[in-house]
Amino acid sequence: MKERSERVAAVDLGGTSAKIGIVDRSGTILARDRVSIDARAGFEDIVGPVAMALAELLAGSGGGPPAGIGIGAPGFIDPDTGTIVGGSENIPAMQGRSPAAYLAGKLTAPAWADNDATCAAAAELAYGAGRGLRGFLLVTVGTGIGGGLVLGGKVWRGMRGFAGEIGHVSLDPCGPPCPCGSRGCLEQYASGPAIVRAWKACAGTRAAEAESPLEVARLARAGDPAALEAFAGAGRALGQALGGTVNLLDIEACLIGGGVADAGEVLLEPVRRSLRRYAYPLVAEGVRVIAAELGNDAGLLGAAALAWERLGA
Ligand SMILES: [Zn+2]
Repeated sequence: MKERSERVAAVDLGGTSAKIGIVDRSGTILARDRVSIDARAGFEDIVGPVAMALAELLAGSGGGPPAGIGIGAPGFIDPDTGTIVGGSENIPAMQGRSPAAYLAGKLTAPAWADNDATCAAAAELAYGAGRGLRGFLLVTVGTGIGGGLVLGGKVWRGMRGFAGEIGHVSLDPCGPPCPCGSRGCLEQYASGPAIVRAWKACAGTRAAEAESPLEVARLARAGDPAALEAFAGAGRALGQALGGTVNLLDIEACLIGGGVADAGEVLLEPVRRSLRRYAYPLVAEGVRVIAAELGNDAGLLGAAALAWERLGA
């Protein structure tokens, strides 16, 4: 009998590039590469080069075809077909298409796709800060806000694969309009761009001193009141959304990941304070708000974790 391959291929599809990797069962990335993406290109012009680069990576790292292929991508993804059914406005050609079906055909291996934040939650559960936890929400704070949910020790995708979208929980019906069609969504108050907007609104003539959320974080760590206020506002909003979430789900932890999570305690501490204000005290007592561990590799490792999960490993 042919021995099954002990490696999977993983793809973390983003708006400007795709990270690709070969990952073993323990979460070790055996080989990796990055493929530039022109978000305005057609479907095959985007996924074709990804398939070619993966084939090269597989050939260069020895061994046969992968046991499976996992793909993380932005948007709402049908977990059965891997079709991106919505929310992929940044890469319009992906709408209604299945990169999983395409890569499965090109690389002759089974392929599955999940939302990128759901993948990140799967990665933290398998290899990161979520190991051993039965219930947590991972919030990815970056240009937007995404979320991935783990319940009963397993990734919870919801009925149609859409679960975990905490970025579009509305905190204020009179708040700023959100591209999703609602108003006052969490994303409008706590995303990277929202933190920079809040900083600029508070900083007056010093607005040009920070142009990114991590630059604002650097000033906050140095005690700058305007920068601290920008993160306090983001933390208040996150804590409000998470307070409702933990009341609903009685989970053990909220993991904060994504690029803005590198801000560290200047973000986490106001989130903890605010969560305690909005959650039922008995529920809040048992919830930890902690940093995710896998950083930039969360998407890639999550795509691999997805493939291992689907393979029944
Ligand atoms: Zn929204």
